[in-house]
Amino acid sequence: MASERKRLPLRAFSFSFFLSRKFARYGVPALLAVLLAQSSGISLTYILKELVDAITIKDESMWNWAFVYVGLFAVSATLWRTSGFLGMYWITHTRSETNRRLYRWLSQHSSRYFANQFAGSLAGKVSNAANGLNHMLSKVLWDFLPTFLRLFLSMVLAYIANPVMALIMAIWAGLFLVINGWLVKKKAVLSRSTAESYTRLKGQMVDILANIRVVHQFARRPQEIDRVDHHVDDLQTKIFRSWRYSEFILLFNNALQVVLLAIMLVVALQLLMQEILTVGEVIMMIQLTWGILDALLFIGNSMNSMMESYGEVQEALDVILEPHEIVDLEEAPMIRVPKGEIKLDRVSFAYEPRKPLLKDFSLHIPAGQKVGLVGESGAGKSTLTQLLLRMYDIQQGGIFLDGQNIATHTQESLRHAISFVPQSSHLFHRSVRENIAYGKPGASLEEIQEAARKARADAFIEDLTEGYETLVGERGVKLSGGQAQRVSIARSMLKEAPILILDEATSSLDSESERQVQEALMELIKDKTVIAIAHRLSTLLAMDRILVLDQGEIVEDGSHQELLDHNGTYARLWKHQVGGFLVNH
Ligand code: ADP
Repeated sequence: MASERKRLPLRAFSFSFFLSRKFARYGVPALLAVLLAQSSGISLTYILKELVDAITIKDESMWNWAFVYVGLFAVSATLWRTSGFLGMYWITHTRSETNRRLYRWLSQHSSRYFANQFAGSLAGKVSNAANGLNHMLSKVLWDFLPTFLRLFLSMVLAYIANPVMALIMAIWAGLFLVINGWLVKKKAVLSRSTAESYTRLKGQMVDILANIRVVHQFARRPQEIDRVDHHVDDLQTKIFRSWRYSEFILLFNNALQVVLLAIMLVVALQLLMQEILTVGEVIMMIQLTWGILDALLFIGNSMNSMMESYGEVQEALDVILEPHEIVDLEEAPMIRVPKGEIKLDRVSFAYEPRKPLLKDFSLHIPAGQKVGLVGESGAGKSTLTQLLLRMYDIQQGGIFLDGQNIATHTQESLRHAISFVPQSSHLFHRSVRENIAYGKPGASLEEIQEAARKARADAFIEDLTEGYETLVGERGVKLSGGQAQRVSIARSMLKEAPILILDEATSSLDSESERQVQEALMELIKDKTVIAIAHRLSTLLAMDRILVLDQGEIVEDGSHQELLDHNGTYARLWKHQVGGFLVNH
C-alpha cells in the first residue's frame, strides 16, 4: 500500500525513466549490447575501405580483410540478438509495471473521480500508456541509441579521411537535429489532441453499449449512431492534422538530404581531382554521407513517431495520475468496530463549495439500532450513507464508529466494518458463486450456500443451468431484478459486518419476488446496526427509529408510531403509500 501512495512522476519521459530504472539489470546490458553491436557494424565500413583498396591493387591482404569483414559481421549480428533478448525482458517488465502501477493508482480514486469519467475509456488509457511506453523504450534502445552512435562514428571516420568534409557533415547534422527537435514539439501537441479525441470516441461507444437496452427501448439507435459518427469525424480530422504535419516534416527532411548529398559529391569529386582522396576514400565518403543521411532521416522519423507515443502516454498520465481525493493518513491504524455504534458530530458537507448540503449535522445511533431514512428525493439520504462509507470527505466535524474517527483510520478497514447493499444490485460478470463469495474471500461452498439460503436465493440458483457456477452476465443482466437483489443480499450476508447500510430499491417486484426479497432483508438486518433508505412499508415497520430528512436536515426523529402521532411529513407520506411502498419522490 505504501508504494501506491508514493506519487509517480507526472511527465511521460520521467515516468518512463522511473519505471524502467527498476529493471536496469536488463536495460543496461541491453544498451551496452546495442552500442557494441552498432560499433562493430560501423567498423564494417572502414574494413570495406581497406578491402576495396587491397582489391584495387590485388594485394594478398585482401583475404585477411575479407575474413575480418565476415567475422565482424557475425559478432555484430550476435550482439544485436543479445540486445533483442535483453531488451525484451527490460521492456516487457517495464510495460507490466506500468500497467500495474497505473491500475493501482486508478482504482484508488474516489467515487467523484469515477462519476466524472468514462470507466471504459479509463481502462483503455492504462493500456495506451503501457503501449506507448513500450514503443518509446524500443525507440530509444534500437533506434536513437544506435543511430546516434552511427552518426558519431561516421563523423569520426569522415574526419580521419578528410576534416573539411567532416566539418560540413557536422554542421549540417547539427542544423538538421535542431530544426527537427523544434518541429516535433508541435507534433506532441497534435498527437495528444488525437489521443484525447480517441478517448472521447471510445468513452461514448462504451457508454452507449453499456446502456444499449435503453437505446433500443427508446428507439434511439439512429441518434446514437450520429453521435458516434460525429466523434469518428472529429478523430479523423485530428489524425489528418497530425499525419499531415508528419508528412511536411518528412518532406522538409528530404529536401535537406538532397542538399547535403549534392554538396558532398561536389566536394569529394573536387578532392579526387586534386588527388587528395583515393578512389577507396571517395567511395567511403559517399557511403558515409549516405549513412549520415539515413541516420538523420531515421532520427527525424523516430522523433516524429516517438512524439506520437509521448503524446498518448502524457494524455493517459494526466488523467490517471490526478491526486487521490480521499487518502489515508500516514500510518493510519485500522478501525475496529465490534459493536457498531455510529455518531456524526457537527458534520458539514458540500459536493460543490457553493451548495452546502449538510450543516452542523449531528446524529447518534446506538449499537444495534435500526434506523430508517425517509425524505424527498434530493433530501440527502444517499449522501449520508456515502459519507459513512467515506466515499467523500467531509469538510467539518467528525464521523465516529465505536468512538473512532473514520477519517483517521484506513478506508479499507472502514469498508470491512460496513456492509452496503445498493439500490440496484451490482454484480460482476462472474459465476453466482464468485459473486456471493465476494463478501468473504475464501468462503467455502457450504458457507456460500448457507448465505444463499438465508437470502432466499438457494432455490432459484439451483435451478440455473449450471447452478452456482452459472455466469450472471454483465452487471447481472441474466438474472431477474429480484434474483439479482437476493444474490447481492447473500453477498452482504457473508460479509458479517456489524453495520449495514441499505439503499432499498424504490420499485416493487412481482409479489412473490417481493416477499422473498423482503424475507431476505429481514434476515440480513438481524443483529446489526442498520441505516436503511427505506421505501417498503414492511422495512419501515422493522425499524426502531425513523429519521425524516429535508434539505440535509433531520426534521422528524422517532419511532414509526411516534411519527404517525406527530402527524407531520412522515404521517403524510404514510397515508399516501402505494402498493406497500412510500412514494417519497
Ligand atoms: P437523496 O438520496 O435523498 O435523494 P442525495 O443525497 O442523492 O439525495 O442528494 C442530495 C443532494 O446532493 C441533491 O441535491 C443532489 O443533486 C446532490 N448530489 C448528489 N450526489 C451528487 C454528486 N455526486 N455531485 C454533486 N451533487 C450531488
